[in-house]
Order: sequence, then structure tokens, then C-alpha cells
Amino acid sequence: MFIGHYAVGLASKEFAPRTSLAALIAAPILLDLLWPIFLLLGWEHVSMGPNSNPFLRLQFDSYPISHGLVAVLGWATLYASVYFGFTRYIAGSIVIWIGVVSHWVMDFIVHRSDLPLDARSRLVGLGVWNHRWLAIAIEVTLFAIGIWTYQKRTRAKDKIGLYAFLAFVLFLLLAYIGASFGPPPPTVKKLAIITLLTSLLIPWAWWFDKHREVR
Ligand SMILES: [Zn+2]
Repeated sequence: MFIGHYAVGLASKEFAPRTSLAALIAAPILLDLLWPIFLLLGWEHVSMGPNSNPFLRLQFDSYPISHGLVAVLGWATLYASVYFGFTRYIAGSIVIWIGVVSHWVMDFIVHRSDLPLDARSRLVGLGVWNHRWLAIAIEVTLFAIGIWTYQKRTRAKDKIGLYAFLAFVLFLLLAYIGASFGPPPPTVKKLAIITLLTSLLIPWAWWFDKHREVR
């Protein structure tokens, strides 16, 4: 899943209003920021092949460290603990823990049976990606709910708070259209680097969230 993960981060503001949107968005996208690092290190593996359905072009051969459920619970606990250590904000820590784990649950819904529980387990996944338009409908609906929740809970203090937020939403939608209809990256290395670049959305979220206030 792609923008569905950002939807979780945006909606999280409802439950942890004192936490920066940057930290809230980092939680549901964390696994997809670890994954390209492990790909580049050669610890995890993906292959790419042509498919008329762009969602099925990636074959996730092995990714138990970034996407195995047992490891995911560990990443969630690690991030939530570090966040709690710095802030002592319980609600934010809980929401961050749930946000990290939500990534696995949402991937479980869309991925084919390629998600591990641990390094040796059988692989699971409900495979909604086999139904391209259903997958797009689910993800866009989630994204709309996330945006609606965030803008209802916060209010722009100035123009940056409004326009940098709108640009963020527009950018994600365009990126999602590109991923859903455009050509795939030519190599695994480029795929990993492009995925890593999505981490720039975290400071972007921090920036406009600073220019908004909780209602
Ligand atoms: Zn993922």
C-alpha cells in the first residue's frame, strides 16, 4: 500500500494532537523506509517483472526484517519507546506503536501471499492488489478520510499551514497516480533510492504541521 499509510499518519493527529505530524507519519511509513536500506545492503530481496497490473510488478522474494510480523512488532516497540523517552507523551507513543503495526496489517490486505510472520514462517496476504480498481478505491478512500480527519483537527495559522499542506496532499496523489499507472523504476537499486526519497515527506509534514494549530 502507498497513500493508505499516509492516511493513517494524518488521521493519527485526532488521537495524539500534541505529536508532530512528522512523527505520526514516520510511524506508518517506517517499514518502507527500512526496506530499501535492507535491499541496498542485500539483506532483503525483490525482483521486478512485467505485468499488465502495475501493483503486481514487484515480486517480494524475501523481506522478513522489514516486513515480518515479529520484526514489525519489534520496530513498533522500538520507535514508540524512543518517542516516549523523549516526550513522555503516552497517547503519542501508543498511536505511534499502532501506526507502525498498521503498515503490516494494510500490506496484508493488499499484498499477495508474500508477507512473512517471521523469517521461517509461511507467507500471507489477502491479495486485493489482484483487483486493481478495488485496491485504488480502498486506498483513495482511506486517504480522503485521513485528510479530512487531519484538517478537521487542525487549523492553518498562516499561508504555509494551508498551502504547504495542500501541496503535500497533491504531491502524494500525483505520486500515487504515477505508481499506479506509470512505468516501474528500471532497476531494484533505483526503486530502493526512490523509496528512500519518500523520507523527505517527513520534514515536509513537520514544516506545515508547525504552521497549523490543534482546534
Ligand atoms: Zn510495505
